[in-house]
Amino acid sequence: MTTTSIQDLFAHNRAWAAQMERDRPGFFTSLVKQQTPKYMWIGCSDSRVPANQITGLDPGEVFVHRNVANIVVSSDLNALSAIQFAVDVLKVEDIMVVGHYGCGGVKAALENVRVGLADNWIRNIKNVRDRHQALLEAVPADVRTDALVELNVAEQVINVAVSTVMVDAWARGQKVNIHGWAFGVHDGLLQDLGITVSGEKSLEGAYKAAVQRIRHKWSRPAGGEPVTIEPRRNRQPGNGPA
Ligand SMILES: [Zn+2]
Repeated sequence: MTTTSIQDLFAHNRAWAAQMERDRPGFFTSLVKQQTPKYMWIGCSDSRVPANQITGLDPGEVFVHRNVANIVVSSDLNALSAIQFAVDVLKVEDIMVVGHYGCGGVKAALENVRVGLADNWIRNIKNVRDRHQALLEAVPADVRTDALVELNVAEQVINVAVSTVMVDAWARGQKVNIHGWAFGVHDGLLQDLGITVSGEKSLEGAYKAAVQRIRHKWSRPAGGEPVTIEPRRNRQPGNGPA
């Protein structure tokens, strides 16, 4: 569906609401009562990565927080409030931090591109870049952005896990899993990066194993092909900082 004007958005909305009501009578009436999502999605603001569409989830099924390059920092009241509401009030069972290959924010951090005010936000990814400088330098330049996309997801999974919200939730015995995923804009597929944490004890091991896997995945002998990555045909370059 190609949108040509703001007015079209309202036309599409009316058509969508009518179709939903035809397909599932009473759908909106039941939504009004409450939301009971099992999932929280922390993703990039990039317009190509819509949480519900990618996962086939309906309205009411996933609680979403998005920002440039799916970052969670302990000074960000917005992200922490969303996580707190999701965990304490909605009682979500799974939180997924979802990066995406070709992320413009990650690319800007890697290449030191000046964007503007957003540079201050992207500084958080530069910190990830600097922490893994040796790994990134050992990875071929053409896949370095995607390696950093995955490293950023691993770091943000840890940032969620060490937040006061999660520390308290696990201390009182609440079951919440935090997952790290990456989305392929080039093929529409989600990859599980294998860094699922379900409590404080599993943190360090899961993080180290994930970084090890990322190193192995993106390293390749000089002039050789990547070791285990997915086919990279039809890859579109990212546009914009998200
Ligand atoms: Zn992005």
